[in-house]
Amino acid sequence: MSFATVLIVEDERIIALDIQTSLQSAGYGVVAIATSATEALESVKGLSPDLVLMDIRIRGDRDGVETAEQIRADYQIPVVYLTAHADENTLQRAKLTEPFGYILKPFEDRELITTIEIALSRHKAEAAIQTALRQEKELNELKTRFVSVVSHEFRNPLNAILFSTELLQRYGAQLAIEKREVYLERIQLSVRRMNQLLSDVLTLAETEAGKLDYSPCPLDLLKLCQDLVDEIQPHEQGSVIQFRHTDYLHPSLPWGCHLADRSPSPLPRLDERLLRHILINLLSNSIKYSTTGEPIVFALSSNDDSVTFRIQDQGIGIPQADHANLFQSFYRASNAKTIPGTGLGLSIVKQCVDLHKGTIAVESAEGEGTLFTVTLPLDRSAHENDPRH
Ligand code: ADP
Repeated sequence: MSFATVLIVEDERIIALDIQTSLQSAGYGVVAIATSATEALESVKGLSPDLVLMDIRIRGDRDGVETAEQIRADYQIPVVYLTAHADENTLQRAKLTEPFGYILKPFEDRELITTIEIALSRHKAEAAIQTALRQEKELNELKTRFVSVVSHEFRNPLNAILFSTELLQRYGAQLAIEKREVYLERIQLSVRRMNQLLSDVLTLAETEAGKLDYSPCPLDLLKLCQDLVDEIQPHEQGSVIQFRHTDYLHPSLPWGCHLADRSPSPLPRLDERLLRHILINLLSNSIKYSTTGEPIVFALSSNDDSVTFRIQDQGIGIPQADHANLFQSFYRASNAKTIPGTGLGLSIVKQCVDLHKGTIAVESAEGEGTLFTVTLPLDRSAHENDPRH
């Protein structure tokens, strides 16, 4: 039994009703009976049938072939012709519209149903091939883009390293200590940038392969955040990450300070690896898109159900028009083009947040800084794996 829907385009009422009865008793739905090109096109537009059964000779100034041509151009709906007699010229025109079947009147019910079934399954198979081809094309475009963006982003820090080491080699002895420090810092920054890039590329490959999974463990969040700040901070000359944890209910303290219950709460369970991707990307971005020395506030807070990370800078900000696409791979805001980057970091951040079933929000305006807020739900009930239990 099929539940596909059919539009009958036939100007002879009795034949149309006869076909309708045959189709309905075979389990098809008949969305309408049209008698002219105009009616047929209106029905296709409004009722989206799965298939059109088209008589070649119909009422009005356009025949069935012209109507089918229009349907083929505007909609992905298969057409099966239905006609009693057609001259060679009309048949040739009909062929050019690539019909999914051709039935000569008079016909048996079985012939009608078989032709429709074949047309529907051929159309389905062709649609699947089209989708696969489109996906393959998109994937190829993505790969080409990926190779060009990543190689470009590797070349810049490599050139910086080459340039700095050459200068140190040639003029090292004559350079003042501060100048030497600048070149050494530049080398370190370049290596760190390549390291981050490699990490992004590998993480992206894992997400593409569906291998990036969520495995939460009890985490000492305060320590992790402080370690991350230390990791990122000293290398970025002049940047200041101010870490705050005013509302963070530290698990080693009595939870919520309830007098009745002074036992320490379990450590929050989060995936450390995913969390590091989230925080490193957001913190590095806030440094990268700020002028040297501008303070960056990194705040940790929590309640019984969730933990929230806020990363706020006073940097270049993000134009409103770019907000909607920020989390797409390779997307970069219009005001960031002169600053090195791949547009991969935030798409990784988003995937890591999604794996935690959390949320990420951005508040930003061009020239006015940026605030990213990440909220991750907590499962505090589980005690297993908690080193203190
Ligand atoms: P990129 O490698 O370009 O930094 P991301 O995916 O990490 O890639 O970020 C995507 C884009 O979002 C960036 O190119 C930049 O335009 C914008 N962006 C992200 N974080 C900030 C920020 N803190 N300040 C200003 N713009 C930002």
